[in-house]
Amino acid sequence: MCEKLSFDTFFEGQKVVNNATNIGRRQNRHRATRVPKRVYKCPDCGKYHLTSKKKENKTKRYK
Ligand SMILES: [Zn+2]
Repeated sequence: MCEKLSFDTFFEGQKVVNNATNIGRRQNRHRATRVPKRVYKCPDCGKYHLTSKKKENKTKRYK
């Protein structure tokens, strides 16, 4: 079993993503750190989890 937050349906997770997105917009944009971004189906437990967008801009700087 995954220890992550899990949802039985895709839409349940999607609702949380939408809520978090709205909250993130209300708050300071520069401090929107771990806002759940998308929902994906977990191959391990068969449920749905959320992915948070990490700050990857700096790591992808060199290319
Ligand atoms: Zn899982």
